[in-house]
Amino acid sequence: MFDTSLQETLDSVIARNPGEPEFHQAVREVFDSLAVIQERHPEYNDLAILTRLCEPERQIIFRVPWVDDRGAVRVNRGFRVEFNSALGPYKGGLRFRESVNLGIVKFLGFEQIFKNSLTGLPIGGGKGGSDFDPAGKSDGEVMRFCQSFMTELHRHIGEHTDVPAGDIGVGAREIGYMFGQYKRLTNRYEAGVLTGKGLDWGGSLVRKEATGYGTAVFAEEMLAARGEGLDGRPVAVSGSGNVALYAIEKVHQLGGRVVTASDSTGYIVDEAGIDLDLLKQIKEVERGRIREYAERRGGSARFVSGGSVWDVPVDVALPCATQNELHESDAKSLIGNGVVVVAEGANMPCTPEAVELFRAAGIAFGPGKAANAGGVATSALEMQQNASRDAWTFDYAEGRLTEIMRSIHANCLETAEEYGRPGDYVVGANVAGFRKVADAMMAFGVI
Ligand code: GLU
Repeated sequence: MFDTSLQETLDSVIARNPGEPEFHQAVREVFDSLAVIQERHPEYNDLAILTRLCEPERQIIFRVPWVDDRGAVRVNRGFRVEFNSALGPYKGGLRFRESVNLGIVKFLGFEQIFKNSLTGLPIGGGKGGSDFDPAGKSDGEVMRFCQSFMTELHRHIGEHTDVPAGDIGVGAREIGYMFGQYKRLTNRYEAGVLTGKGLDWGGSLVRKEATGYGTAVFAEEMLAARGEGLDGRPVAVSGSGNVALYAIEKVHQLGGRVVTASDSTGYIVDEAGIDLDLLKQIKEVERGRIREYAERRGGSARFVSGGSVWDVPVDVALPCATQNELHESDAKSLIGNGVVVVAEGANMPCTPEAVELFRAAGIAFGPGKAANAGGVATSALEMQQNASRDAWTFDYAEGRLTEIMRSIHANCLETAEEYGRPGDYVVGANVAGFRKVADAMMAFGVI
């Protein structure tokens, strides 16, 4: 599928980054799409744009020591991969989860470059995190961990340098502890150094909702492009974190009916439509398990332990949990049950085999770097408000988000068309995202 130079570059990326399968997967997916532009743009080749793009500008790995509630010293590993700053300061979240390693952070950082480019806003790509899991830790432990993490990270970030935010395991609580420590260490109220802040201290309305809202709007646009709508249609959402909850909220506002949600213990099916207030209470307030939803909701809902949420028949699927959660067998079930649109709320939740099946079956497939770009786009809007010491209304911020999602959708379709792959959102997103970054890198010379 690739020409020799793409294949050679990919081989060398894999050889230079051993043991990082998620990073290889993310790079391979982008390269797959770039085959269509090789011929038209030999200049990218001459300047080794791809080789440079796959090598992060800077990678920081550091020790994070902290003391737990029993007085024992614990040590975690912190990461920040500053991947590409051609379009603006590095921008991307921090993930706190036991499974975090350098390969995962690099896959996320790599995706972020193209996603951020697609938003049309001036942000480069980066990502970070730690193999620390806030689940099951006390507030005091989370605070001490965040303070220790920021004690090292603060020297690498800044509103014009690198602007972290949340991701899995990092919400307003963690951002608060990290912002507090940054402020204390630097003696600067530099609001634009982190996004996803609380509303009283520099945060933006709609940031919390933005990733999920954006994914739902993107799915609606995908349906509209096929002359269809969300109204009354059954939708499956996986996950029950920030992205999933607000994807459910927006699908409901747009007239669809979300019938599933999940966590690591299993999934719930509620044919009457998820009762979002109840799910938010359990997940956002009590930080509980999803089975409690079925117990408290009664009648229309059931909990399925293990199994696959993708076995539930729906018209629209929004994977909003984590990478590689939707496999080939899941894609087969969804296709068999008549799914028409799949839009990724999480980063790379569908395996390459699953994506191939969707594309071969003519199902509209929206990759995460387009469909979930609403979160980081609204982070950039938060940076705008911080820079002008302003605070926008909910309606204004949401209007901007919706406009951005529609324009990403249109850009994907137009680019796919231009490069001879009509309706292919993967090619559209990768090529459109890549071209802007590549052109900026060319303008800067070999750096
Ligand atoms: N973690 C989110 C993402 O995957 C948001 C990053 C941000 O707001 O900077 O895009």
